[in-house]
Amino acid sequence: MQLTFLGTAAAEGYPAIWCRCERCVVARARGGPNLRFRSSVLVNDDLLVDPGPDLVAASIRLGLDLANVQGVLITHLHDDHVDPTALYWRAPGFAVPPLPEALVVGTAPSLRRLHDRNGVPLNADATRMRLHVATHGERLEVRTGGPHAVDPRARPERSLSASGIPATGPSRHYEVIVVPASHAGPDDEASFFAIRQVLGPEAEGRTGGDAPAILYATDTGPFSAGAWAVLEGLGAAGWRYDTAIIDGTLGLGNPGTAHMNLDQVARQHEELERRGLLRPGARRMAHHFSHNGTPPHEELVAHLAPMGIVPSYDGLTIDA
Ligand SMILES: [Zn+2]
Ligand SMILES: [Zn+2]
Repeated sequence: MQLTFLGTAAAEGYPAIWCRCERCVVARARGGPNLRFRSSVLVNDDLLVDPGPDLVAASIRLGLDLANVQGVLITHLHDDHVDPTALYWRAPGFAVPPLPEALVVGTAPSLRRLHDRNGVPLNADATRMRLHVATHGERLEVRTGGPHAVDPRARPERSLSASGIPATGPSRHYEVIVVPASHAGPDDEASFFAIRQVLGPEAEGRTGGDAPAILYATDTGPFSAGAWAVLEGLGAAGWRYDTAIIDGTLGLGNPGTAHMNLDQVARQHEELERRGLLRPGARRMAHHFSHNGTPPHEELVAHLAPMGIVPSYDGLTIDA
């Protein structure tokens, strides 16, 4: 499973747009991995997590088109993760067809954020999308690469796919689990995702419990009992993560409950390992950085190295 980081910053970007703090000044001067868009990742070329406000810029900066995307997962309603019009640009007149249908998955508060440029809720037909209102703990399968029938007998409990025009890429199946995040308000249903690729070239020869899997846990404080219950359940079903990506927004700052500092990130990774959820040699990552707590990239790399953790940066591609 290939993972590309389209953006790796917290809500205001890093360097922050209205800011001349020392870290932002250094980031602008050094450039490169110090320039971070708002957080978003692309799995292979067909599954997008968080259509945020920098999606257009990231696609242009990295020379990537997203025309093969057939699955869009939204972690939560905050506008650094879901830009209301990001998916509107799929409509005729903005994207030249054929464009395969995309399945858009998020909890109700996240999906309610989507609208056109006049603030009118998106017409799913016009933008060639199917919306799926997700619930915490839900296990679903996202199928990409072409038209697929929905088989109600399929495991996991829900099998969902886009339909219509096939994408130009190979068929891939992903299992996606919606995990409750410790973030935002009680009614906001913020989520993070466990994702496992069970079909496709990247999963070749890796079946069942050996299938490539990532944990993408941004915008959360230390995992709640409810989150651990979901992750333990997956562990019992054989899930082991090749890569765990964890919210490190607060950097060297004080510990948090809706985000984490780097010590808290290390504790979560240790806890994942203690519970037997990481593969041997799993990649431990920190992600979603704010200039308020996080040093520039080079110092961040040096700080995390003794903990066995690597920071994300924009444009980074890994085999997860
Ligand atoms: Zn965020
Ligand atoms: Zn947030």
